[in-house]
Parts: sequence; C-alpha cells; structure tokens
Amino acid sequence: MRSVAFSIPDDVIAVRNGIEAFLRKEVIPRHEEHHELLSNQRLLYRVDGRFCDEALALIRRVRMASADAGYYNMCVPPEIGGAGMGLLAYYVAWECIFRLCGGHHWLGTYVISHWAFGPSRVLLEVSPKAREEMLPAMIAGEKSMCFGLSEPGAGSDAAMLQTRATADDGGWRLNGRKIWITNAPYADYALIFAITDPERASRRKGGISAFLIPTDTPGFEIENVIRMYGEIGGNEGEVVLGDVRVEPHQLVGELHEGFRLGVLGVSLGRVYNSARAVGSARWALKRAIEYSKVREVFGNAISKYQGIMFPLAESATEVHAAHLMGLNTTMLLDGGKPAIKELSMMKSYSVEVGARAIDRVIQAHGAIGFTNEMGLTEAWKYLRLVNVADGTNEILRRTILHRMLGGDLD
Ligand SMILES: Cc1cc2nc3c(=O)[nH]c(=O)nc-3n(C[C@H](O)[C@H](O)[C@H](O)COP(=O)(O)OP(=O)(O)OC[C@H]3O[C@@H](n4cnc5c(N)ncnc54)[C@H](O)[C@@H]3O)c2cc1C
Repeated sequence: MRSVAFSIPDDVIAVRNGIEAFLRKEVIPRHEEHHELLSNQRLLYRVDGRFCDEALALIRRVRMASADAGYYNMCVPPEIGGAGMGLLAYYVAWECIFRLCGGHHWLGTYVISHWAFGPSRVLLEVSPKAREEMLPAMIAGEKSMCFGLSEPGAGSDAAMLQTRATADDGGWRLNGRKIWITNAPYADYALIFAITDPERASRRKGGISAFLIPTDTPGFEIENVIRMYGEIGGNEGEVVLGDVRVEPHQLVGELHEGFRLGVLGVSLGRVYNSARAVGSARWALKRAIEYSKVREVFGNAISKYQGIMFPLAESATEVHAAHLMGLNTTMLLDGGKPAIKELSMMKSYSVEVGARAIDRVIQAHGAIGFTNEMGLTEAWKYLRLVNVADGTNEILRRTILHRMLGGDLD
C-alpha cells in the first residue's frame, strides 16, 4: 500500500500477505486445472440452473482449505469459532482477493466467510444448541448458509416483509416467500427473517425475528434459480416457506428484535462490496495500462492518445479516493463509531466508480475487452449488480442526506 499514509496494523498486513500466498497456491491453480469447467457455462451449470456437483465440490474445497489455513473465519467472532479480526482486516483482505483474482478466478470469492453464505458476526447470538448443531460444519467451510431478508414486496424497504412466524407448540411455523437470496440454491442452512409480532411490525417498532434453520426442513423449497444477464444458471434463488417448523433453539438473538441482525448483515455486505469494487477496478486498470503500451493504432501505442487515457487517469483517481474512504470507514467502525453516513458514502461511491472504471477499461481494449478470456465483462457485471444489492445507491444517498439533515455535517 505505497499510496496510503494510514498506518495499517502488522496483523492486517500479515493476513493480507498470507491470503495472497493462499490464492496463488489454492485458488489460481484450481482455475488453471479446471479452466474449461469453471469458465464454460454449459459445463458449469445443470439444466435447472444450479452449479454442477463438480463445481460445488471445488467451491467447498476452497472454503475448507481456507478454514484450515485460518483465513475463512478470520473475521468471525471468537465466541462462535473465528479469529475475531475487525472490519479493516476484512476490507483489506477482500480488496487483495479481487485485485489478484479479477474477473476470472471467481473461486476467490469463497476464501473468506461472507455474511450471506457463511458464519459472521450476524450469528453471534445463536443459542448454545444451534451453535453445537449447525456452526461446526459451517466454521469448517464444509457447509454453507444463506441470508433470507428480501421479499418480492420488500427490497429497499425490507421492514415491509410479509413472511410470518406463527407461534406453534413452543416453536413457530414459517410461511412466506424470499427472493434474490444469494447461495440459497446450495445452502445447508438459512437465516430467515419473519414477522413474529404483526402489530409492532406494522408500527416499525420491532416485531421481526431471525431464525437459523436447516434447508432440508420440510416445507423449505427453492422455487427458482434466478438467472441474470442472460446466463443459464445462477447463485441467487427464490425461496418458498410452506409451514416450515422452527424449534425454539433456532431463534437467533432476541425475539421480535431480529431486524437489527438484517441491518448488521447488510452493513458487512457494504464493506465487502466496497472492497470488491476497489480491488476489481485496480485489477482492470492495471490490465488497461499494460495493454495501452502494446496496442498500436494509427502508428502509435494507444497510451499516446489522451482521449482514451484521460478517463483511465480519472478512474484511477476515483478508485484511490474510494480505497482511502474504505480504509478510513472500516477504521472508524473498528473503533466503535457507527459511521452510518461514511459507510453509505463508501459503498455507493466505491461501486459506482468501480463499475465506471471497468467500463472504461473495456473501452480502452476495443473488441477484445468484451471477450470471456479477458474477464472484464464478468468483473463489470458484478459491480453493476451491487449498485443495487446491499442498499441501492439511491437508498444510500437517502441515508447520507438523512444524517446530514440531522446535523451530521463533518
Ligand atoms: C445480486 C443480488 C444479490 C442479492 N442477495 C440478497 C441476499 O442474499 N439476501 C437478501 O435478503 N437480499 C438479497 N438481494 C436483494 C437486495 O437487497 C435488493 O435487491 C435491494 O435491497 C433492492 O430492493 P429491490 O430490488 O426490491 O428494489 P426496490 O426496493 O423495488 O427499488 C427499485 C428502485 O427504486 C429506488 N428507490 C426505492 N426507494 C427509494 C427512495 N426512497 N428514494 C429514491 N429511490 C428509491 C431504488 O434505489 C431502485 O432503484 C440481492 C440482490 C441482488 C441484485
């Protein structure tokens, strides 16, 4: 981090260096060995849109190897089996992963447990019985989970969810529908948010609870694997909950107070996506600079043409600003400051400038920029998506303004 004057603690630098070595040993060679399977959609996905078994086995192997090496759970609280590192480490490690893996080596996304598919601080308040039953396999990277908050009628306004948990024989019965749920088609467990007190929920004063349930519980069904961008398979699913029995020990945190866990999960997602945007954009900008020196058009290397190079300089500036914002915000969060405004600024800014940078890199490459081999469109697609996921840019601007109008004008 030559361009950064912040002092980054030694343990964070050590983890980042360790992850870089892990990627070179465990992730990049796997992509080379299984190149055809991992890059050809016809082989990667089954007819129903799910990853094929071989791909799922590779994903599991990366998660488990990383858990063994001590990276997968690096930011999971020690109380539930992790190393308890903070959000600065989380940010720096994810940025490193995407700067090295770019749009090609997507198994890199499984190196660190991500709140939407693995253990995180969202699960800190699971009951002792649930911890014993469900966490060990997740901590080992063997099993995974999904995070079911959004519904067809409740996206940006997630508190409008309609899934109901009705008290039944000491536990609950869940009925409802969830959509856009990452990893749902493959998850062994699901954290499901549901209304437990309709009156409080209608006043937006609690009344929503979180439950961690095995996805093989009768009544839990993946109705649809959602395809995006014309792809033939996907990672997001639509979940139907039909009278799913929930035991008392599956409640996570306090009854009626689960919505804050939803907010906590989404906040982790904002840190992850900011880091991914900066790392992917830097990976892409490096490729553009290299290409600009060797591609000759009208007798000159394109590095001589300001029309194509100035936008790259502008993007490098924006991405640097996003990186500094990411380091600063995660340091504030680790220091116990809520940093609500700064986290919203960081995520909306990072994903916007990240997607713009990759778009400009594609332009600088001409036709070759669109080829699957370059991986640029793959990287761009994800950043375009996260202009919506984990709080849309508009919702984040709304939060920034809400804070400013309330006097937070620093
Ligand atoms: C790839 C991907 C993965 C996802 N993974 C998960 C997951 O694992 N779990 C989960 O629970 N959810 C997940 N989501 C859902 C995600 O959280 C929602 O898509 C997001 O919150 C936006 O909701 P929506 O799509 O319903 O859009 P809407 O809320 O319908 O918004 C539509 C448009 O209106 C704008 N808008 C809304 N309100 C306002 C306002 N007040 N002012 C100005 N503009 C406004 C929005 O910005 C948006 O542009 C995922 C989404 C994507 C794309």
